[in-house]
Amino acid sequence: MTNERTIDLVNPATGQAMTSVALASREQTDEAVARARAAFPAWRAVAPGDRARLLRRFAEAVDGDIERLAALEVANAGHPIGNARWEAGNVRDVLHYYAAAPERLSGRQIPVSGGLNVTFHEPLGVVGVIVPWNFPMPIAAWGFAPALAAGNPVVLKPAELTPLTALRLAELAGQAGIPPGVFQVLPGSGEVVGTRLVEHPDVRKIVFTGSVKVGKRVMAGCADQVKRLTLELGGKNANIVFADADLEKAAATAPYGVFDNAGQDCCARSRILVQSSVFDRFLELLEPAVKGVVVGDPAGQDTEMGPLISEEHRRKVASYLPDRSRIAFEGHAPGGAGFWFPPTVVLPVSASDPLLTDEVFGPIVAVVPFEDEADAIAIANDTRYGLSGSLWTSDVGRALRVSRAVEAGNLSVNSHASVRYWTPFGGFKQSGLGRELGPDAITSFTDTKNVFISTE
Ligand code: NAD
Repeated sequence: MTNERTIDLVNPATGQAMTSVALASREQTDEAVARARAAFPAWRAVAPGDRARLLRRFAEAVDGDIERLAALEVANAGHPIGNARWEAGNVRDVLHYYAAAPERLSGRQIPVSGGLNVTFHEPLGVVGVIVPWNFPMPIAAWGFAPALAAGNPVVLKPAELTPLTALRLAELAGQAGIPPGVFQVLPGSGEVVGTRLVEHPDVRKIVFTGSVKVGKRVMAGCADQVKRLTLELGGKNANIVFADADLEKAAATAPYGVFDNAGQDCCARSRILVQSSVFDRFLELLEPAVKGVVVGDPAGQDTEMGPLISEEHRRKVASYLPDRSRIAFEGHAPGGAGFWFPPTVVLPVSASDPLLTDEVFGPIVAVVPFEDEADAIAIANDTRYGLSGSLWTSDVGRALRVSRAVEAGNLSVNSHASVRYWTPFGGFKQSGLGRELGPDAITSFTDTKNVFISTE
């Protein structure tokens, strides 16, 4: 239940209330932005080596807290413990990676006559980071780590349903010596805190990760002040399996590609496209793999898939399958309390089927046949999204041709890898704007200044 002041959090695996968290008001948002703004001059002036050291200390504090952070995410978001440990470790790694940036964020000297021309990467000022509930820790870090490294203070707004790890990260930042006001976490509703961060004139950049619907509103809000903006939005990603692929491996890994985090993953490969000559064989191989997914108590060491985030979200996912007639096969899900939904494979599906056009954000995958390479590319691109995807083939030329032709920001050949913090991540089309992670994201938290000094 949400009221203006608090939200009651529910453990998604048990349906039981766990704790309640205060929601910030518009006035509190303004106060946080004012504190961040006041902290900006001193933070940008910290010597690069000292800022790097503070970020490394923050990373080490996270490293020493992995078990606690992971346990919080298991209870708050229902993530399997192994995944939650990886997510906390990802925060540590992203902080370490961007801790190397302050000492390397150099401009250029460009030859001119009559003087010296140099460029500087100037920090922007207060950065608002707004994140969704599906990966509360990593997605926050992909925004705040490079922002801090470039000399900007950050106000982070976690999703209403999953604020606990973000609040813990703020404590760890304080323990690591990040100065007051430089990294603040403000739990609150999107309508109040999110909207205010977007419209506040002292917030100079928004990093927004979430749905296309809200992302469009955020973009419109930022336009009013020509505010810098990174958008990471939804996905309807294709997993393309060619007849010449290692079918056993493609089928064995396909469940991970779509059911990881119970399908609540912007990179979920929720459309499997299979060349028609091997369609039946692929399904024969896929069935035991889907039935073998270990679904259950997220605290269990072997659990591969936990519950959905809320009862409301489970109802939304279930609405895509009003009856069971198209379910080809499904995996296991525990009964009883908790927001469980089994890994589910659906066919047949027509081109206009919502399962092929909408981001379901749950453990449902549609399998469709294709004839040839051109057909596969056309189906893969028949979506407003363009975030990620996989293709399986033993033909190197085809791997490269299809990778270049699929309109998506992140593609994996013979793998489902989507995110490596040292490589760029982001979407084509309505999946987003700008890139996070990798060597270049740091400059998106700066403006380039050109200075000419006359020698005449
Ligand atoms: P959402 O868009 O409902 O909410 C995301 C965040 O925006 C939340 O913190 C919410 O409180 C806030 N918000 C809501 N209204 C706002 C407003 N008017 N102004 C400012 N902020 C507002 O998304 P969700 O349901 O929390 O998350 C699921 C979505 O996130 C999916 O579409 C998924 O694909 C997407 N996502 C994308 C990526 C990516 O990197 N591309 C990663 C994870 C999730």
